[in-house]
Amino acid sequence: QYILGIETSCDETAVSIVKNGREIISNVVASQIESHKRFGGVVPEIASRHHVEQMTLVLEEAMQQAEMTFKDLDAIAVTEGPGLVGALLIGVNAAKALAFAHQLPLIGVHHIAGHIYANQLISELQFPLLSLVVSGGHTELVYMKEHGSFEVIGETLDDAAGEAYDKVARTLHLPYPGGPHIDRMAAEGSPVINLPRAWLEPDSYNFSFSGLKSAVINTLHNAEQRGEVIDPNDLAASFQASVIDVLVTKTASAAEKYKVKQVLLAGGVAANRGLRAALEEKFKEFQDVELLIPPLSLCTDNAAMIAAAGSVLFTKGHRGNLRMNANPGLELPS
Ligand code: ATP
Ligand code: MG
Ligand code: FE
Repeated sequence: QYILGIETSCDETAVSIVKNGREIISNVVASQIESHKRFGGVVPEIASRHHVEQMTLVLEEAMQQAEMTFKDLDAIAVTEGPGLVGALLIGVNAAKALAFAHQLPLIGVHHIAGHIYANQLISELQFPLLSLVVSGGHTELVYMKEHGSFEVIGETLDDAAGEAYDKVARTLHLPYPGGPHIDRMAAEGSPVINLPRAWLEPDSYNFSFSGLKSAVINTLHNAEQRGEVIDPNDLAASFQASVIDVLVTKTASAAEKYKVKQVLLAGGVAANRGLRAALEEKFKEFQDVELLIPPLSLCTDNAAMIAAAGSVLFTKGHRGNLRMNANPGLELPS
């Protein structure tokens, strides 16, 4: 079974072909970061225009790398939402055109389901499992009792983890996206500055990062007013330590309570080296829990993860139709 995946929810134009939901045959990602950098974030209009320009090129390259024709494919999977509506529309329309022209089934995929299913490209999923989703727009703990069933047991009440990284990076005058820069600086510094950790109510699996972000900004401003110098690497390390402490502690306690067989890391912030190392260290204590962490290229937006998630839906018999529309507010199916 060969599924072609298409992803255009934000600022990556991506096409991939995946065999049996597990094996990457080709995986092409055109990033627009350079075009958005000077604005300090993704500009929706610019993103849509780039997707239009890149879509056919990326598609051709993915087909060429795979050395396949459309006759070899079993279905087209596409990110239906959530994301930027104008950006999503380009991918959805490309997928509909291909499905119609080549008479192939069309499958709509939830972007976050895609991030979670990136893990299926490295190992077989075993249920029940828990996924820590940390991305530019989402921070949540998702419990899955079987394929295609997603129960959000906790989520951020304000900023997403990636959003907090990007905002803190901006106050440190680092280029967009700031996550990788903070990660690199954190490795150079020490977590010597005391920053808050938002545990919320006892036993809550929810998160909050806006207080931490404000604390970082206040720390910088106060130092400036007193004429003191703060080592930006130490500030980055202290911020990262707070984020990781909360993420790892809540994930471990949920894994225990829900008695899961696997814990999956997912989303762009899963590329964070500090987080990956801290999770690996923590889950050494859990003998019966397998920790899965995708390689960096499968953490940030790509279409292989969409094809992998689409494969599961295809096998279950899900079929979209040509009335499919971009849905920026799409919710995870439970
Ligand atoms: P969503 O998936 O919620 O719709 P998105 O697709 O925009 O949002 P992703 O592409 O999954 O987000 O992830 C991008 C985010 O990941 C950015 O906020 C970026 O700063 C962050 N990120 C990438 N690498 C790292 C890293 N090494 N450390 C921390 N954050 C990182
Ligand atoms: Mg992106
Ligand atoms: Fe994403």
